[in-house]
Amino acid sequence: MAKLTTPMYVEHIRRDLNPETGTRISREKIEEAVKRILFENMITSPPVNVQKLAGSLGFDILGMDFTPDSGIIGWMEDRAEENEYVKSQRFIGIEKNSDSYRKINTVAHELGHFFIDCSSQEDYANIRFRCDQNIPEELRPIADCDYCREENAEAFKNELLMPWHFMRSFLEQRANMKWGEILNAVKENFFVPRHTAKYHLERKLKLTISHEDRFEVKALG
Ligand SMILES: [Zn+2]
Repeated sequence: MAKLTTPMYVEHIRRDLNPETGTRISREKIEEAVKRILFENMITSPPVNVQKLAGSLGFDILGMDFTPDSGIIGWMEDRAEENEYVKSQRFIGIEKNSDSYRKINTVAHELGHFFIDCSSQEDYANIRFRCDQNIPEELRPIADCDYCREENAEAFKNELLMPWHFMRSFLEQRANMKWGEILNAVKENFFVPRHTAKYHLERKLKLTISHEDRFEVKALG
């Protein structure tokens, strides 16, 4: 078998992002990449349906029963041969009993690896563990534990769920509102938990958000 095909725009994004091992991808590059992905998929407003996006890239999204003591929270493969256990060449495994936020989060994170770390030629297999977990010896080669690579996938995930060109106009419309209310609105409109929204916006705007403070448009720069 051969690997499943990958749209040309994905190849372009991989070429543009292409981080050297141990380096972080710039905020601008990740914003550009996500903008391109949304454009190619005609996504013009939040929330970004990441399951649908993954489906359009040929992924099977598989609900799995990861036992709690395995510490596994996500799994992604993109290979030339079918994984014989799950009967798929390209899939994202998510914990079937987790809530929808977590499922979306896992899919978006794994798509980050797809856009950043995968290539059309090589097989890719990656299992994501909870960060406090001891990873079994036999799974270490495919365990998701390279710190910098993880940061890149997380930054990509947050940008994919909260694209800056959507977020910016969303915030502009909420001048002088309390951050607590804004975070509630982000949760509702972008479908991300409040703490994820807070974390992402604090990094984007380089400020510390407290719920009672009001958002000032000048913070957008
Ligand atoms: Zn990861």
